[in-house]
Amino acid sequence: MRATPGSDLPAPAQPALPHVVVLGGGFGGLAAVKALRGAPVRITLVDRKNHHLFQPLLYQVATAGLAPGDIAASIRQVFRRQKNVTVAMAEITGVDPESREVHLAAPESGEVVLDYDYLIVATGVSQSYFGHDEFAPYAPALKTIEDATAMRAAVLGAFERAELQAEPGKSPELLTFVLVGAGPTGVEMAGALAELARATLAEDFRRIDPRRSRIVLLEAGPRILPTFHASLAAKVLRRLERMGIEVRCGKAVELVDEEGVQVGGERIDAGVVLWTAGVKPSPAAAWLGAATDRAGRVKVEADLSLPGRPEVFVVGDVAAREQDGRQLPGVAQVAIQGGRYAGRAIAALVTGRPSNVPFRYINKGDMAVVGRNFAILEREGIRVGGFFAWLAWAFVHVVSLALFNNRLIVFTQWAWSYFTFERGSRLITAAPRGVTSATLPPRAPGAPASASPPNDSR
Ligand SMILES: Cc1cc2nc3c(=O)[nH]c(=O)nc-3n(C[C@H](O)[C@H](O)[C@H](O)COP(=O)(O)OP(=O)(O)OC[C@H]3O[C@@H](n4cnc5c(N)ncnc54)[C@H](O)[C@@H]3O)c2cc1C
Repeated sequence: MRATPGSDLPAPAQPALPHVVVLGGGFGGLAAVKALRGAPVRITLVDRKNHHLFQPLLYQVATAGLAPGDIAASIRQVFRRQKNVTVAMAEITGVDPESREVHLAAPESGEVVLDYDYLIVATGVSQSYFGHDEFAPYAPALKTIEDATAMRAAVLGAFERAELQAEPGKSPELLTFVLVGAGPTGVEMAGALAELARATLAEDFRRIDPRRSRIVLLEAGPRILPTFHASLAAKVLRRLERMGIEVRCGKAVELVDEEGVQVGGERIDAGVVLWTAGVKPSPAAAWLGAATDRAGRVKVEADLSLPGRPEVFVVGDVAAREQDGRQLPGVAQVAIQGGRYAGRAIAALVTGRPSNVPFRYINKGDMAVVGRNFAILEREGIRVGGFFAWLAWAFVHVVSLALFNNRLIVFTQWAWSYFTFERGSRLITAAPRGVTSATLPPRAPGAPASASPPNDSR
């Protein structure tokens, strides 16, 4: 099926208008589409998901603090009032820059071809296991809602399994959590896990003491949080250690299997291993036949266009662009500002006012949070760590959510959790691993026989 400007998919209101296709409904894609509000164009926004995901708060879903719907927003709902946008939920399978076509695979329609006049590529990155994809089944990563709920099931399931051991406490590895990668995601996950184990769950089990959980944060590099100044990383390290988290740097993980990890020749048996390291770009470079940097990101011009293709822009995590001699980081603000810039550039082009001002990223500050009351904030030489940084972190994250109802729910949930230590989303929606009838405690005399808990092959 082919959808040219003027045919059924997308359904254009005014076929004569230039057609802008935006690939990816993440931070970059959303900002680009918003910047084209009011421009004389028709826009088709394509994403494989029907929702925009606020990835910075995924770790809170993975640790039961927030529900998936709290941090995701229906893309259609976001653009309900922007009438020049059509949303297409489909898998992008290729781009033909020569004939200006995008190829999609949609569940019901089969292959769809979209013609474009302008293209914005904002398809982001996916997790990388650094060439060790065999680790993936044993070490879930965090990138999508599905990942976060799988992690949540793994974490909460570990406590359930430990509770059902014939001799509770005899197998401390069941409550050993290993996180691989001590960038912001690893650090934030470790802090949230510690609070979950030492506060939220502390009173909820009868046969185990969740407070005795062991949390190990591994980092192959020489220190945690390599993108932050060393003084802030040192503050975070002290904070993590005070929370009882073991932090080990300087040794790469050599092996991950169903019973734990091997790092620097040492074996750490663990009930749960979580992968919080490394990303790789989506295949945009292959689609576009474009040059890449060493990480596989698409090299772009100063105006974020593809070299030799002024009608194609690449923004966000999938783009490689240096500024002041440094690669722009893969963070939400770079994607938002890049998407906005590309949208405005197209709006200027179609109205005959092309701009030659290059894209310039304005760093509004980098943040990472470690549990309640503590975050770090770094911006142009300003470095703050502690309660006020945490307040700023909380404010920025609430106001940045895509929809008002998300902001309200997250704010309310956080306020409740802050005073009660409760976590509102403690659901296991996948079977906890390794629970078998053999691990059940003996049944009390006279008690009814219960059905066996879910069993799987761990
Ligand atoms: C766990 C985690 C925590 C993070 N924390 C922070 C933080 O605290 N602060 C911060 O600034 N940044 C953070 N980031 C990084 C930030 O989320 C990214 O920099 C940002 O999302 C990049 O935006 P983007 O638009 O380039 O890509 P994304 O937001 O990833 O969007 C890409 C979109 O493209 C879609 N897509 C990809 N391939 C296809 C395909 N083939 N077909 C159809 N659709 C496709 C995806 O479904 C997705 O919706 C975090 C990231 C993660 C994973």
